[in-house]
Amino acid sequence: MSENKSANDVKASRSISMGDIDLTFKYEMSEVPGFEKLRLCFQCGSCTADCPIARFSELYHPRKLMRMTQLGMKNRVIGSEALWLCAACFTCVDHCPQGVDIAGVIRALRNIAVREGVVPQVFRELTNNILTTGYAYKIPEMRHKKRAERGLPDLPKANTGDVAKLFDVLAVSKFAKKEK
Ligand code: SF4
Ligand code: SF4
Repeated sequence: MSENKSANDVKASRSISMGDIDLTFKYEMSEVPGFEKLRLCFQCGSCTADCPIARFSELYHPRKLMRMTQLGMKNRVIGSEALWLCAACFTCVDHCPQGVDIAGVIRALRNIAVREGVVPQVFRELTNNILTTGYAYKIPEMRHKKRAERGLPDLPKANTGDVAKLFDVLAVSKFAKKEK
């Protein structure tokens, strides 16, 4: 993913207006196991300080994502490219003095983003590749030819029908082909 700031990430650094607040968001999030702990976050910043991704990306601040979620800034938080940078290593969870499941909150936010079709283009492309070939990256025809020339066996073919069924259940198919 590009390190260039998306419009939403640039906007995230600006002031907050009432239009940014979705009063129903806390009800949506309250269905997430452990969400009640997020209310205890007092913005100490340990999650950002200890996060290996935040160390290398100016864009990524888990503390900020937690605050935006607390405030109900739904569109800005699910539209942020930063949301997709978390590596789910759980370092922040181990270090949070308030016991907030930061990685779990981020996973829940991603699920909401997927449900609403707010997904970075790179994930749409990966999803399309898996749907059509079974592989995350399309393997060029030239690569198949080279394998054959060297006497290597054909790569296994995925059952894309089963993949499509699984993606339907996960509600992933609907955004896969949609252009951003
Ligand atoms: S470490 Fe915990 S309490 Fe501190 S900012 Fe992060 S989520 Fe909030
Ligand atoms: S789980 Fe995500 S936010 Fe937490 S430390 Fe790891 S990469 Fe950072």
